[in-house]
Amino acid sequence: MVSYDKYMARVERILDHNAETRSLFLRCEGAGLAGCLPGQFVSLLLPLKDEVRRRAYSVTWVSPGGELFEICFDRVPGGKGAEYLFERRIGDPLEFIGPFGSFVLEPGVAPPLVFIAEGTGVAPIRRMVKHALSGPPGEPVELLYGACASWRLLYRAELEALSRQRSDFRFEALVVPEAQGRPAALYDRLAAQAARRWDGPKIDLRLRFYICGIGEGVIRLRDLLRAAGYARRSVRYEKW
Ligand SMILES: Cc1cc2nc3c(=O)[nH]c(=O)nc-3n(C[C@H](O)[C@H](O)[C@H](O)COP(=O)(O)OP(=O)(O)OC[C@H]3O[C@@H](n4cnc5c(N)ncnc54)[C@H](O)[C@@H]3O)c2cc1C
Repeated sequence: MVSYDKYMARVERILDHNAETRSLFLRCEGAGLAGCLPGQFVSLLLPLKDEVRRRAYSVTWVSPGGELFEICFDRVPGGKGAEYLFERRIGDPLEFIGPFGSFVLEPGVAPPLVFIAEGTGVAPIRRMVKHALSGPPGEPVELLYGACASWRLLYRAELEALSRQRSDFRFEALVVPEAQGRPAALYDRLAAQAARRWDGPKIDLRLRFYICGIGEGVIRLRDLLRAAGYARRSVRYEKW
């Protein structure tokens, strides 16, 4: 079994996006996350009553020196790991390993880029979008972001402001209410939108896609784009 170095961080700030989603800003003790690539995650070691639960959380923001970073997460029905995180208070310690993950903007990959996110799936994508737009304006960067309610669209004001500042960034928000369970109807709409925009006789083979969300809808989106003719390496995804 591979053993990893464990690190400690403390909760420095708590930000409630809404009643169901929270960000924790974590200050590292010792080694920070300076080398954490946009899209990567840390694995938190959560000491529950009867187990130490290991759960992945994408790093959605990191300070330039890597000493402070942000994760954001949902309440999950019956989810004891998420519940533990919601119980944390300022100053509480959290142990983690990482960063990990190959869902990253690979070196040399440049716009045109398309990002598709659902709900908290925007967490890794937020850093990737900002990284993709860190140079001078150029080829387009697009983000199609869906949620079951408008209040569930995280970082919306920030993303809309970015799209006003950068003519090369197109941000589209899609809200599809879901009566219950996982957002199947939302994924239907995301897929329909993806088919309308990125399928057809003249697809742009320079496009690279990055998809993140929860459940099988992510795989449907991936398969739709691959069936449209994009190469496997051009359609990257992370499914939670
Ligand atoms: C690479 C990776 C990165 C991740 N990054 C994030 C992140 O940035 N933010 C985040 O909230 N979660 C993220 N997750 C999911 C997270 O690791 C946990 O699975 C989640 O918090 C539930 O853990 P739990 O122990 O509370 O519940 P569990 O008992 O493990 O899960 C209960 C059920 O909830 C589902 N579920 C998992 N995540 C969510 C969610 N966000 N919303 C609704 N249902 C969910 C699972 O599919 C499972 O069926 C990530 C997962 C992976 C693999």
